[in-house]
This record gives sequence, structure tokens and C-alpha cells, in this order.
Amino acid sequence: ATPVAIMVGTGKGAENGILIKSGEALEITHNIKSVVLDKTGTITQGKPQVTDILAFKRSEKELLTVAAALEEKSEHPLAEAILEKAGAEGIKPAKAENFLAVSGRGVQAEINGKRFFAGNQKFAKEKGLAAESRDQDMIRLAKEGKTPLLFFDENEILGIIAAADVVKETSAQAIREMKKLGIEVIMLTGDNRRTAEAIKRQLAIDTVIAEVLPQDKEREVARLQEGGRTVAMVGDGINDAPALARADVGIAIGAGTDVAIESADIVLMKSDLLDVVTAVGLSKAVIRNIK
Ligand code: ADP
Ligand code: MG
Repeated sequence: ATPVAIMVGTGKGAENGILIKSGEALEITHNIKSVVLDKTGTITQGKPQVTDILAFKRSEKELLTVAAALEEKSEHPLAEAILEKAGAEGIKPAKAENFLAVSGRGVQAEINGKRFFAGNQKFAKEKGLAAESRDQDMIRLAKEGKTPLLFFDENEILGIIAAADVVKETSAQAIREMKKLGIEVIMLTGDNRRTAEAIKRQLAIDTVIAEVLPQDKEREVARLQEGGRTVAMVGDGINDAPALARADVGIAIGAGTDVAIESADIVLMKSDLLDVVTAVGLSKAVIRNIK
């Protein structure tokens, strides 16, 4: 495209809150064949709320007390949901020691010298617990699109706390319009497969890649690029940064982390997925202008 066309396109983008960092990004965008969308914070608002508390051993309140202590040092949005719920119930988290976050699994810590864990079924199984006994509850909650977390000690499952995140108002329409443009829409998430499938159905997403470890997101993008497909990645989190850099077009959510914004070619200041569609339109206009 001519420098003038690029300048006009970039200016139009800026007017719409779409920051396009390079002429190259503006040019490639018209050619996107697949869009990879991070789930939490990109498709959803990224602020999950506690929806269900199932206490198997002691009262709900006691379960929440252990949960809050475990999650206090975690920076995960699920941890925030649990602390908010505990706060609303007037629970002050007990002191936890030797806190450890296990990537893609959950967290562990000691409370009064006893070790407790919170996380997914994989985590519980790795710790030697018969997590299958709670499969029915876990499956039911996940099918409702919620993320169920197991709370356990070294001997038994204490309970399940589920949280759910709200899908952003414009996500469904944005995904429909991307598909109308012939773009394949893929959701990438660390969340469990059933929860991801529920959201896939709700939003008519083409493909879901679930239970992806943060460090593997980049590899999934690279795999989609095999054969020369132009792949865009949209994300908000620290763990999206390598995938954003790897993608042909990295698109960061404006409300996201600084690292994601730095790694991206395009920043959506309104944090609205419809602006991906707008960016494709701008790029097409710029390209048409050359010809
Ligand atoms: P995502 O950002 O897509 O949720 P993560 O890799 O951060 O992916 O988390 C994957 C899964 O690990 C979560 O869905 C949850 O089951 C578990 N997990 C992560 N952090 C925590 C936490 N602080 N407490 C409990 N479970 C957690
Ligand atoms: Mg995210």
C-alpha cells in the first residue's frame, strides 16, 4: 500500500480506538484466515464470580475460610472471585504459609501446619486423590459453562467451589461477523474442556483448544500457521504475550496487561472484539486503494 493509504488507514483506526503499530500489520490484517481468541479477559470480562459452593466435610463457611487462605496470594482471577465471596460473607482469610502456584493446575499452601490444595481434577489426581468420586458434580458444573475447582487436603476432597465469568456483550456478534468474513474462529484456554465446550456452543465458535498450559499457547499458534495460514491472536494476559508475538497479527485487549500490549501489533482500546472486524475492514480498504 502507499504511505498515504497507510496513514489514512492508521488514522481511521485511531479514531475508532484501534491502535495499529505498523503499516505492515495494517496490510496483513486483510488476509487473516484464522483468529485465535483467548477466553478469560478476551471473550469474557475476566471477572469470574462464585456461583456454587459444595461443602462435603464441614460447613460452607469453613470451606470458604480454607479457600480464602489458600487463594490469598494467588493472582488468578478465580482467586479474586473466591476472596470477594469470602469477604462478602465476612470471612477473614487465615494465614497461609509456603504458598505455591502450580501452572495450569492450581495452588497449594499450609494452614496451621497442614497442607491444602485448590485446583482442577488433574491436580487432585496428581496428588493421589480419587477425584473421580466427584466427577458428577464437576461435569454438571462445567456443562453449565462454570469453572469448578476442587479443594482438598492430602487425604480427602473437602469441597467444590465453582465460578463463572460473564461473556462480553459484543463477543457473540463479533464471532458471527468474523465467520461471515470467512475467518475460522478458535478459542484457546487453560480452562477445562467441558467448560470450554459449553462456551463454544453458546457462541458458535468453530474450534476450541482447551487445557492449554500458559507456556504452550505460543506453540498452538505456531501449529495453526503451518502451511502458511495467516493467523491472528487476540489476548489480554501476561501468558498471551509470546503467542501475540508469534502470530502474524498480534492483537491486545486495551484493558489487558502491559506485556500483552507491548507484544501486540494492534491494540483494541475499547477492549471490544467487534473492533477486530473493524480492523479487517480497514485493512481491506487500504489494500483496495493500492490496486
Ligand atoms: P486460564 O487463564 O485460561 O484460566 P490457567 O492456566 O491460568 O488458564 O488456569 C488453568 C486452570 O488451573 C484453571 O481453570 C483452574 O482449574 C486451575 N487454577 C489456576 N489457578 C488457580 C487458582 N489460583 N486456584 C484454583 N485453581 C486454579
Ligand atoms: Mg486472558
